[in-house]
Amino acid sequence: MSELAMLGGPRIVPRNRRIPRWPDLAPEDEEAVRRVVASGRYTAAAAGEKEIAGLERDWAEEVGTRHCVAVSNGTTALSLALAAAGVGPGDEVIVPALSFIATAITPLHLSAVPVFADVDPVTFNVAPKAVEAAVTPRTRAIVVVHLHGLPADLDELAATAGRHGLALVEDAAQAHGARYRGRAVGSYGDIGTFSLNVSKNLPTCGEGGLVTTDDDDLHRRVGMMRQFGEMLGGGGPRSYVSHVLGWNDKPNAVQCAFTRSRLGRFREENRIRDENVRHFLGRLGELPWLRGPEAPDDRTHAWHILRFMTDPEPFGLGPAHTGPVRAAVMKALRAEGVPATHYQLMPLPGQRVFRRPPIATEDHYRASDWPNTLEVIDGSFTIQKAHLSPKARPMLDLYADAATKVWENRDAIAREAREMDYRPPWQEAEEIAEQELPT
Ligand SMILES: *Cc1c(COP(=O)(O)O)cnc(C)c1O
Repeated sequence: MSELAMLGGPRIVPRNRRIPRWPDLAPEDEEAVRRVVASGRYTAAAAGEKEIAGLERDWAEEVGTRHCVAVSNGTTALSLALAAAGVGPGDEVIVPALSFIATAITPLHLSAVPVFADVDPVTFNVAPKAVEAAVTPRTRAIVVVHLHGLPADLDELAATAGRHGLALVEDAAQAHGARYRGRAVGSYGDIGTFSLNVSKNLPTCGEGGLVTTDDDDLHRRVGMMRQFGEMLGGGGPRSYVSHVLGWNDKPNAVQCAFTRSRLGRFREENRIRDENVRHFLGRLGELPWLRGPEAPDDRTHAWHILRFMTDPEPFGLGPAHTGPVRAAVMKALRAEGVPATHYQLMPLPGQRVFRRPPIATEDHYRASDWPNTLEVIDGSFTIQKAHLSPKARPMLDLYADAATKVWENRDAIAREAREMDYRPPWQEAEEIAEQELPT
């Protein structure tokens, strides 16, 4: 048994070993970008531009919706989806307490109010019962996030939406290609949104987003709202008539061409990633102290982020040491060269932006209102991006070796957990916040 790198032993992942590049780059991606740059057709307004509408067509076909609109990023995709669905000043929009900040700020961009619902501690997705309980007469929409790539409980959430006449918006920024009961995410709700950010499973060379829907009216409204409220695409000269309040949220042709090129190997890459990740999870499954993500039989997982819950018991410690054991394990893994990180340090409603003027006049936030989200954040770590490349398997094997080494050194981990001066992530976040922008 070799000593933990954290205690001066040798590292499992050599220092010079690079994480396989993501997005990986194929010659055809570079060629696609070069073609657009050389053509001079950079925006949808350029005569003869085909990449933007081409990506929309290709993605609608992939997801199985009648329509798709390409936009500037995943956050604007959400704003446009909510606006098109009729969300406006004073409306309430139910969002998960555990997600990326974009999910919760986009209602506010429309002067609507995000109302948070706690998540399920096993799937990390919003709990349908918590959503049902959050409905009020002012609720207008539910934004469901397929967190980390696992489709949420869409049937139950759609039943709630149907019962109360609410729009169901799918934030599928982390779940490209995942399927729920045979249907691709983004095709199930009234409207779906995707991010093409360079960090996501279907990336562009920068920023981009996609909105999918079967509804002709929603499609038309999103199209107008990304273009100053104007109606384009008739083939004639631009009218400069703004029918609705819009933004300028258009994508550019270079970024659409890059993503479109990658779509050619999207399914194959997903298949290889699925194999790599299952192999990795299989190896980790032999270790009693951590629980990896799972895909129930009725849905597939896009494996955008891998979140692992750590159990203090195999280390001989009780539930009070959940956080310290997770922190000790993270420290040990990082020292071995495994990029174990947090994803979200606090429940979203704990973010200062929601607790302060001009958004809130009084601070009503209590962390204890979000027990499941706290449990997840305190007791888990994530692997992000390192597993996305089809070439990731050898590196994942090293990560599994490191996790095995941690287990072999369980006494040292337990000691570290018992002795550390532990603060949960949300307390650390408060301290960071105080340093960055003191009250
Ligand atoms: C990345 C992400 C977004 C925002 O996408 P951007 O393209 O970065 O604006 C929205 N929601 C979730 C859940 C995300 O992970």
